[in-house]
Amino acid sequence: MQDLSTMAGNVFSGVPLDRVDHRRGDAAWIEARLHDPLSRFVAVWNQQSIVLGGAEPRAALNGRQALDGLLDGLPGGATPPVFLGVTAEESDVAHFAVDLSALPEQTLIERYSGGALMDLRDSVQLVPAHEAAILAYARGLIYWHQKNGFCATCGHESVARKAGHERACTNAACGAVHFPRTDSAVIVLVHDGDECLLGRQSRWPTGMHSTLAGFLEPGESLEEAVAREIFEESGIHVADVRYHSSQPWPFPASIMIGFMARATNRDIKVDEKELEYAHWYSRDWLRNVEDSDEFRMPGKYSIARRLIGDWIDGRFQV
Ligand SMILES: [Zn+2]
Repeated sequence: MQDLSTMAGNVFSGVPLDRVDHRRGDAAWIEARLHDPLSRFVAVWNQQSIVLGGAEPRAALNGRQALDGLLDGLPGGATPPVFLGVTAEESDVAHFAVDLSALPEQTLIERYSGGALMDLRDSVQLVPAHEAAILAYARGLIYWHQKNGFCATCGHESVARKAGHERACTNAACGAVHFPRTDSAVIVLVHDGDECLLGRQSRWPTGMHSTLAGFLEPGESLEEAVAREIFEESGIHVADVRYHSSQPWPFPASIMIGFMARATNRDIKVDEKELEYAHWYSRDWLRNVEDSDEFRMPGKYSIARRLIGDWIDGRFQV
């Protein structure tokens, strides 16, 4: 596995495609690309994707022929293939996401022989980072279509438009247009001198500890959300809130906006609805701890791990 912690951007960012927004409304161009044998298709099946095994596992980004016959098996009203973009090289190869969730799992396994259906959190640890970014983009858009079949304004059916980048209400009296939604969440490494604050949620994998996080609310700036979430979850007040980086987080529809912030008090009072507990951990202890069922770090692909690693090694001026 490549060392994801040394990537320039966070994992799931860096989609190697030009999204060419101006092409999305060009129905003739999209239709031609859909039938172009050079075009590539990412199958999404119930939030999983196909990964081809072997010595160097790859995301299944299949040519047009890999779809032959499959689309006919989808029920009427299924989301048409969603246009993702074109490769930024001379060849301009179009990429699409295809929702095959209505097909039996076995149909996909047989079609993509040697492949396995995997959740993104597993496949990201196997496939090259730029392919994981395409899978994340595809998963996020397909999930949005799956959950937005009906207009939120009037309740009538909606249909995909602009090659899958908006949905329009079919009720002429309404005419609302809906756009893919991304929920903003702040994630924060809180530090105090040589220690940082990590917590644990009971639903997390055994032993996993991480930075604190929460969703932005309406009428709130990001830095206000940082202060509120940290105080609500841990009783800690913060100052010197500094932006670090962000990470697309399609589980199912978020972006994690990463910060570091300085604690101004020490006494932890956790909100037990949110956290089992939170503690202060020193740099040295974190640097030397081995993963175990008592304590393990968040996944190497996560911004949480990056925040912790950058703080431990002093790669980010707090
Ligand atoms: Zn409507």
